[in-house]
Amino acid sequence: MVSKVILAQPRGFCAGVHMAIETVKLAHEKYPDETIYVNHQIVHNKRVVDNLINEFGTIFVKENISEIPDGSIIIMSAHGVSPQLYRQAKDQKLRIIDATCPLVDKVHKKAIKYHNKGYEIILIGHKGHQEVIGTQGYAPMHIVGTSAEADALCVKNPNKLAYITQTTLSKDDTQSVVDTLLRRFPNITNSRDDICYATTNRQAAVKALSEQVDLVLVAGENNSSNSNRLVETAISMGTPSHLISSHDEIDPAWLIGVKTVGITSGASTPEEIVEGVIEYFKTQGELSVDILNFKEENVTFKLPKALEDMNA
Ligand code: SF4
Repeated sequence: MVSKVILAQPRGFCAGVHMAIETVKLAHEKYPDETIYVNHQIVHNKRVVDNLINEFGTIFVKENISEIPDGSIIIMSAHGVSPQLYRQAKDQKLRIIDATCPLVDKVHKKAIKYHNKGYEIILIGHKGHQEVIGTQGYAPMHIVGTSAEADALCVKNPNKLAYITQTTLSKDDTQSVVDTLLRRFPNITNSRDDICYATTNRQAAVKALSEQVDLVLVAGENNSSNSNRLVETAISMGTPSHLISSHDEIDPAWLIGVKTVGITSGASTPEEIVEGVIEYFKTQGELSVDILNFKEENVTFKLPKALEDMNA
């Protein structure tokens, strides 16, 4: 029976997610009589989206912003959008509030810089992820997800190459892709990956956690890249691990022979999900709850300027 839970610290919301959710709430406060539209999920978590729909009536638009009435307010999500979508929103005279995480925006700027200097760009990331779709819009680029893909990549000029990365990748896997690129193209430009502080810290914390527990549960959604990477990181340490969007998804078969469970959560997962998991174990019997304090985080991001300027 599970008698102990250890919580990884840091876990859960990062500064970018916190800023994006606050942006939606403040937009509703500032414009109480208007419908607020959000492009895609504001962050990759269904509970967050459902809470905003239930509390404020936010409308989330999956693919087609042309359905949004002209002149409406649209919030661009934390994982960023392509300049093409931005232009389309402007053409529709939508009033844009851009909640793109500054660390994703930094990658967009890097792509523009390399393109303007004539580099052929390689983006290390997962095809089809919202962040990658957005970044791809800033310049022509190859998308490479694995070392095998990096090995098979054909480029025009091996001496004028630069790489950038998605912000929520596995540190270890990315390093192996970078190593492959460096082996094949020794003159490739970049000094470091673009994996953000929150992803880096959560992965390092789950590594330390994995050494102390029999099982790691990661609270997060299937479409959350950084949550999936936490599961992979724990498994790479030899500890069984599962992704759960809530305690309802815990399979009792996972708990056979397990005494200590480690819990962490992705950067877009609200703490209430972790609390639900702790409650689940408390209903099973006596439970102690410890925290593995790996690192303190004190990063904050400013709210989008448009929130101050709109209709000022
Ligand atoms: Fe920004 Fe990193 Fe959070 Fe993504 S996970 S929103 S890049 S801080």
